[in-house]
Amino acid sequence: MAKPILLSVDDDSDVLRAIERDLRSKYGADYRVIASDSPEQALNILGQLKVRNDSVAFLQEGMQIFPDAKRALLTAYADTSAAINAINQANINYFFLKPWDPPSEHLYPQLDDLLDDWRASYRPSFEGIRVLGTRWSPRSYDLRDFLARNRVPYQWIDVELSANDPETKRLLEVLGTDAASLPVVLFPDGTKLLESVPAEVAQKVGLRTRAQTTFYDLAIVGGGPAGLAAAVYGASEGLHTVMIEREAPGGQAGMSSRIENYLGFPMGLSGGDLARRAVVQAQRFGVEILAPQETVAVRTEDPYRILKLADGNEISCHALLLATGVQWRRLEAPGIDRLQGAGVYYGGGSTEALSCKGEIVYVIGGANSAGQAAMNFAKFADRVVIVVRGSSLSSTMSQYLIDQIKEMPNIQIWANASVHEAHGETHLEEISFLCSDSGNLERVPASAMFIFIGALPRTDWLAGVLERDDRGFILTGPDLISGGERPKGWGLDRDPYLLETNVPGIFAVGDVRHGSVKRVASGVGEGSVAVQFIHQYLSKV
Ligand SMILES: Cc1cc2nc3c(=O)[nH]c(=O)nc-3n(C[C@H](O)[C@H](O)[C@H](O)COP(=O)(O)OP(=O)(O)OC[C@H]3O[C@@H](n4cnc5c(N)ncnc54)[C@H](O)[C@@H]3O)c2cc1C
Repeated sequence: MAKPILLSVDDDSDVLRAIERDLRSKYGADYRVIASDSPEQALNILGQLKVRNDSVAFLQEGMQIFPDAKRALLTAYADTSAAINAINQANINYFFLKPWDPPSEHLYPQLDDLLDDWRASYRPSFEGIRVLGTRWSPRSYDLRDFLARNRVPYQWIDVELSANDPETKRLLEVLGTDAASLPVVLFPDGTKLLESVPAEVAQKVGLRTRAQTTFYDLAIVGGGPAGLAAAVYGASEGLHTVMIEREAPGGQAGMSSRIENYLGFPMGLSGGDLARRAVVQAQRFGVEILAPQETVAVRTEDPYRILKLADGNEISCHALLLATGVQWRRLEAPGIDRLQGAGVYYGGGSTEALSCKGEIVYVIGGANSAGQAAMNFAKFADRVVIVVRGSSLSSTMSQYLIDQIKEMPNIQIWANASVHEAHGETHLEEISFLCSDSGNLERVPASAMFIFIGALPRTDWLAGVLERDDRGFILTGPDLISGGERPKGWGLDRDPYLLETNVPGIFAVGDVRHGSVKRVASGVGEGSVAVQFIHQYLSKV
């Protein structure tokens, strides 16, 4: 296999020679290191493109040729505006400062990180799992979404779209009548699963759904940022920790195409990257991660907290932390449920973004999650329409996203409108919108609609055990004290700790907690802080 290329460009020949030397000495064995002293020559190398004569333009054009390549800018200390332009306009992944001596401190660790990221999504010639299905099948969508979110590499073969492809024809011939049982998953060992569902595929690809033992110091339910942070802190401080996740580690954040306000990542990072890094970090400290696995009930047999899992197994622990976040609120309109997974999607639908090439995509909702998704779809779709009930985005979306959206010529805002009905036989074909200013119904063609209309916790399984507010968010700490009284049944001579529920030793953090700030950083903060209280609780069990 040809070596991947590390391309460096600088018009200062001394700098160029130095960076080339340092790159070669560290990465020469695995990468082809190419140096170029001009953007023009570099673009020629990339694909003989016509160039504009500045570094950001080069990065922008280079990005069009190799959109998956990682891009870093080497800039002078004083020239922060070059870095900011490069971040804003060329989506660079990192900027290095000149001089970078010693490279072992100021160049290699950051480059290693970038290359690790790149390798995580780089697919050389394909040797892994193949999934055969059709774009408009909800089952195929669920399976692809599951594989993508669990970072299981696979090749997608749309049997309708590639019906004339010789390789697809050959595969379908070999499959014979089995080809009717879509989605079909073909594994490298020659085995296959027909009408595959995520749980079967999870077992086959070795995702762990069963605990290794029945007792843990700390059990965490939910693998979003809050649960992952608690797992890292708990395990790194010596607690035997298990984390149970219903779908895929990363939670809602894992669906975000670009988180730009998380401290320490000035260029932003995708939720997928954040989740991958956090999972590696948690596993390094020995956290056992069960996914996909759902927790369906909890009970106490003092001093133990016992969880019942969807497969019927039970896990007991001394301390339990709930970090189950929130799930998308459903949109109530005719056609929505019927076409879900066939053009109608809840959340980011990163699996679908590529399929929207050249199409018109509707994003419903005006919060940051909708804005990020619109920015992501705009890279592929012909046109993206953000539909909001209100008269503008300003009260619901962060200014930085509003500014980015304004700069995108193919994103349009449709204010004062709401979904009335989704139309289509086998997949979404049209949407009717009710326009509140005119009272008119407008029916427009559409191939995909992504819904972001807020979220609610799913905590019914905790009813009768934990105190929740009227929307299902879990009460903790001071919220449990009413009229100076501790919660009913609380048998200790202390108040509940800050993030503790009305059952001693059961804690709740992140979006699922009543009154929490719905952000990645606050979830991470609460998950980490909770571990301190868990230690205090465990010291007296
Ligand atoms: C598209 C999108 C973009 C966003 N962008 C940003 C951003 O740019 N910046 C920012 O700060 N915030 C952003 N947010 C908000 C942020 O992602 C959330 O505040 C954060 O993920 C909350 O973390 P959490 O761990 O509390 O819950 P979640 O992320 O919701 O994770 C909860 C996890 O628990 C699992 N779970 C639920 N019930 C069970 C059960 N019974 N058994 C097992 N597992 C269960 C779920 O599957 C889920 O994985 C965004 C959200 C979305 C949806």
